[in-house]
Amino acid sequence: MVPIDLRSDTATRPTAAMREAMATAEVGDEQRGEDPSVNELCERVATLLGQDSGLFLPTGIMSNLIATCVHCEAGDEIIAADNSHIYHVEAGGGAAIAGVTCKPVRTERGIFSIDDLNQLRRMPNNRRPHQQLVAVEQTTNRGGGAVWPVKDLEMVCNWSRTNGLKLHLDGARLFNASIASGHAPIEYAQHFDSAWICLSKGLGCPGGAVLTGSEQFIAAAWRWKHRLGGAARQVAGLQAAAGLYALDCHIDRLAVDHANARLLGELLSASSDIDVMPIETNIVLFKIAQRRASSEKMQLESKLRDRGVLIGQESANSYRAITHLDVDEDQIRTAAKEILQLTA
Ligand SMILES: *Cc1c(COP(=O)(O)O)cnc(C)c1O
Repeated sequence: MVPIDLRSDTATRPTAAMREAMATAEVGDEQRGEDPSVNELCERVATLLGQDSGLFLPTGIMSNLIATCVHCEAGDEIIAADNSHIYHVEAGGGAAIAGVTCKPVRTERGIFSIDDLNQLRRMPNNRRPHQQLVAVEQTTNRGGGAVWPVKDLEMVCNWSRTNGLKLHLDGARLFNASIASGHAPIEYAQHFDSAWICLSKGLGCPGGAVLTGSEQFIAAAWRWKHRLGGAARQVAGLQAAAGLYALDCHIDRLAVDHANARLLGELLSASSDIDVMPIETNIVLFKIAQRRASSEKMQLESKLRDRGVLIGQESANSYRAITHLDVDEDQIRTAAKEILQLTA
């Protein structure tokens, strides 16, 4: 039996229609800029994000790394949420490759304010690392899929400009934010010097990301893409064809994932032993109450696995479930039932 995989929205497999789009894609040598599908995808995403130009990349992590490399010099500092992807789960790429350090902002849900920024702003002098970049994640992954409100985002962006810092948007789930809030992606992304979206998350593609920015930024990013071995051949066109298909067919349906996440949250909340964090998009974070978190209860993740339900374990008693196009309402009900049984 295929498990109900709620570990991540990367669990999706390309649909038959997406595979058809990939199979019939026009492709070319991407490294020479001659892949028509890639070029079309980059143009479309740049337009959607209110940026001049786009660059296809194999992963979101490479998008964050290349933006870091273009915006920063060795010794610079990036400001990002303490639970952000760029700081937390990219194997220290910014430090290893670009020589930058990160100043983590303590946050509950990955969203910070200008008060937070004022507190950690370093007055420039020779002894201090040069603060160069503010990185924002929309939606916040480890923050539980929270959506930055446009107003808060604009305030942080204005502050950063006033203080001479560059701005980078990790939009791995930007379309989730957009569907949840009703604000077009451009309303968030236009304020940034660089912004990218993932194809492999809610959009349901087998991989890929598109990084956007000014012509000048993308020219520099191209050099880093090549340098890091991210310049591809015809395979990028197949991925881009999946991306083009997803832009047409898989954005509006994110509302279904959000409804399924809310449903899962409601079903789990029926137990007084389960504490569900607020659900804004497709990410459900929940905790098993400490008094119930005996060693047996703490095996929830592995016991669920035996019953064909996969979730992520965040800490001893906290878990993460993410909805996506490969799980339907019935499977959500099944997953909830199993979790409730195991924690009863
Ligand atoms: C998944 C994710 C990434 C990395 O994307 P990959 O394509 O898996 O490399 C970066 N940032 C956030 C917020 C993510 O959720």
